[in-house]
Amino acid sequence: SSDEEGGEEYLFKIVIIGDSAVGKSNLLSRYARNEFNLHSKATIGVEFQTQTMEIDGKEVKAQIWDTAGQERFRAVTSAYYRGAVGALIVYDISRRTTFDSIGRWLDELQTHSDTTVARMLVGNKCDLENIRDVSVEEGKSLAEAEGLFFMETSALDSTNVKKAFEIVIREIYNNVS
Ligand code: GDP
Ligand code: MG
Repeated sequence: SSDEEGGEEYLFKIVIIGDSAVGKSNLLSRYARNEFNLHSKATIGVEFQTQTMEIDGKEVKAQIWDTAGQERFRAVTSAYYRGAVGALIVYDISRRTTFDSIGRWLDELQTHSDTTVARMLVGNKCDLENIRDVSVEEGKSLAEAEGLFFMETSALDSTNVKKAFEIVIREIYNNVS
């Protein structure tokens, strides 16, 4: 943090990881712009979006990074992770294979981190209750076992999206302040 006009400023890098098509880009566009894209390719060529929130009267900026689809080729680079202090690790509650990949994503995150990372396990697409393939309990117990926050979200209907990001941002703030 740095002093500016008597206040302090914080800038936190947060990465979003998880298998292809779990809704990473839409979680970010829902949070940062309140937009959802049914036919994404929502990856808009922007590497990250910045959102500001206030904690303890201080301006906290979250620089949230989205992959450009590299995860399809298992080629998310170390540059993507560099300096990250927060992570959303996302699966799709309607596709078990994406839940089975979480361990691999946690390993990759761990490999590339040299600092404490606030981590949230996110079960996205909770609007798809009728075709659910991973129970809430399974998500919760994996999160507990790995020491992660946990939340089910829907980028489509906005459920818990803001909450998920803000919990991570607050946790990072608590880690550094
Ligand atoms: P990414 O590859 O992880 O970035 O996933 P995208 O954000 O591109 O989303 C992949 C597909 O899932 C798109 O067709 C989205 O419209 C859809 N999608 C994303 N989030 C949700 C959600 O919360 N609910 C539903 N039903 N569909 C979603
Ligand atoms: Mg994407």
